[in-house]
Amino acid sequence: MRRNCFIDNQKIKNLTEYNWNILGLKKNKIGFGLCPKCNLVLQTPSLSKKKVLNYYKNTSIYFENLIKPSTNLKNTTKRHLNLIRKNVKLKPKNVLEVGISTNYNFKQYLNYGVEKFQGLEPSKFIAKKFKKSKFKIFNSTIEDHKFKSNYDLIILSHVIEHLIDPLKCLSKCSKSQKNGDHLLIEVPLLEKPNLFPPCYFNIEHLNYFNFYNLNLMMNKLSYEVVAKKKVFKGAEYPVITILCRKKLNLKRKFFRNIKTDIVVKKYLKKENIFWSKIDKKLKFLDKKKSTYLFGAGLHSSMILEKTNILKKLNVKGIIDSSKLKQGKKFGQYYVFSPAILKSLKKTNIIISTFSGEKEIFSSIKKINKKNLNIVKLYS
Ligand SMILES: [Zn+2]
Repeated sequence: MRRNCFIDNQKIKNLTEYNWNILGLKKNKIGFGLCPKCNLVLQTPSLSKKKVLNYYKNTSIYFENLIKPSTNLKNTTKRHLNLIRKNVKLKPKNVLEVGISTNYNFKQYLNYGVEKFQGLEPSKFIAKKFKKSKFKIFNSTIEDHKFKSNYDLIILSHVIEHLIDPLKCLSKCSKSQKNGDHLLIEVPLLEKPNLFPPCYFNIEHLNYFNFYNLNLMMNKLSYEVVAKKKVFKGAEYPVITILCRKKLNLKRKFFRNIKTDIVVKKYLKKENIFWSKIDKKLKFLDKKKSTYLFGAGLHSSMILEKTNILKKLNVKGIIDSSKLKQGKKFGQYYVFSPAILKSLKKTNIIISTFSGEKEIFSSIKKINKKNLNIVKLYS
């Protein structure tokens, strides 16, 4: 699917293209390009609308540990509540969060004094988790959801970078809100490419914003940005949070349009150096042995494309702990459960993830030690 800029309908100027294996699908050409007018970076070509929605419904799940919330989640919620406390005069009573990964926020907002906190979540798996709790979740995509209540605060944290047409979805929020109601958005921020991780451009993120185009988009929807916060440290990548207020007859404030093509080019240069280093590491592996990649995510898509591993090693398949991924195809490879590790003979296992390496290594290091050569790429 080819996309134009959803903010100003401009044709996108291509910056890079990948040929990715994606879980459950054949190889796909996925590109990233720039809107010449508003400097938004968009994924295009991307998967068809149907494939994107299916991917979220069946394979991609963001779910937090319900008993022990992550530090990242705690910090994010704290940051949001602080912005709200400082900038919203009347405490919001009726709140909707779009995209649910936990009931942690539900509890925090009730503690803060919100009367009603509801969720909107496309994943059946997550919606089911909260079926019997007090936490009301609508199991739907924002595209299909019909707003029945008025919310004086709507939260979309790490949501709109996943949407095909954020402007359209946000205009549904805008129509459901009154003058003076608030909307909070957090997204990855396309600034400081030296802080981006190696798989920054990924299959799930369709849009890459900066403050200029976020502000422009919100103005189009009759919102003014009343507060913003950029975070560069402690997160996986830079993020920006904006708090917006619905305002009819809005006078636009103009901000400087930052050139993002330079940011992208800097990152792509860094990415190439990164994968050639990984390639050098893999050269030392025993080519007579069979090889499996552990991890059926974007890191594997990238390693298969950006390194020469395929040509030099005998890759037999992918292993993943997620039951949702097992049994599916990842490009030409079958996704196995970690149970296969016990029966493998003389095999290289490459842990193919950036953030989960430690965890996977400690969960498999004791299995079938004589036969498995477990390869860590980062530590
Ligand atoms: Zn644009």
